Amino acid sequence: MIPSAARGKSLRGRLAPSPTGAQHLGNARTFLVCWLYTRCHGGELLLRIEDLDTPRTKSWANQQAIEDLKWLGIDWDATAALQSSRASDYHEVLEVLKQKQQVYPCTCSRAQVDACSSAPHESYLDGVIYSGHCADRSAQDSERLSAQGLRYAWRFRMPDGLMTWHDDFHGPQVLDAKKLLGDFIIARNYGPAAYQLAVTVDDHAQEITHVLRGDDLVYSTYRQLAIYKALDWQSPCWMHVPLVVGQDGKRLAKRHGDTRLAEFRTQGIQPEQIVGWIAKSLRLTQDDTPMSASDLLLIAKESPLWWQKIPKEPWVLDSPGAINPT
Ligand code: GLU
Ligand code: ZN
Repeated sequence: MIPSAARGKSLRGRLAPSPTGAQHLGNARTFLVCWLYTRCHGGELLLRIEDLDTPRTKSWANQQAIEDLKWLGIDWDATAALQSSRASDYHEVLEVLKQKQQVYPCTCSRAQVDACSSAPHESYLDGVIYSGHCADRSAQDSERLSAQGLRYAWRFRMPDGLMTWHDDFHGPQVLDAKKLLGDFIIARNYGPAAYQLAVTVDDHAQEITHVLRGDDLVYSTYRQLAIYKALDWQSPCWMHVPLVVGQDGKRLAKRHGDTRLAEFRTQGIQPEQIVGWIAKSLRLTQDDTPMSASDLLLIAKESPLWWQKIPKEPWVLDSPGAINPT
């Protein structure tokens, strides 16, 4: 078990929207759980806009995410620097990982990775599993590659063997992460740091004690834990909450109807309706009576260990029409 020394410290959480598009009902549910959990523990909350995914980030989405959160009645105590402004910090940590030979330069193209990775039917947990084609290289080999003008990605060496950690919602987690997830990209010699590096450096630098986010990032936790360990950093506590899905069981997308918070707002739907709907889905209330986030916080404060009653399965959205303007 990787020790989580954050246990016992006063809680510091974060809201980390990605401005790659509009925030939807699923994001709202996760943000609300994070806010309720943090506030119920008397903790602090940081807002961090994760704008690293530059080709996909949209400038309008930064401000819209902030408006969505405020509209829902979620507040925070501090705002972190944009990830796009923190390249030098990520770079510094990458240098340390290079010195430790925890990373190697990978020149495989996307198509090559797809072609020589394990067949998808063999444990296809979270993307393709990298074959290890370039793993014999050392970090210094990058100098030769750079001199040749080649593009490469920095891949992190996943440690061998079983990795275990504790999820404060789902309980104990275990996986042969090397075999089932494989080595993963943390930066490129062209372009910005990748999510796994940026989020780890930020959570550490910003002294986050509790990472509370959606279930889609459970496998990322193995990767981030491997980075914490390589750097001898203390890892935070983790809690992943189930996603909202459509009736086909897939995560919310356009085909499930319009579930964008900004769209609800335009249609004259009140935030209390969304909060009421989410409260019921979390089993905090019996019905979806509209209520403000602060009223829901009072309910949560009076329901000890309320988060343990959140359904363990994804929450299936009947149709966005279930939320009607009043
Ligand atoms: N920005 C990420 C997302 O919106 C969340 C990252 C995290 O919570 O670690 O999916
Ligand atoms: Zn490679």
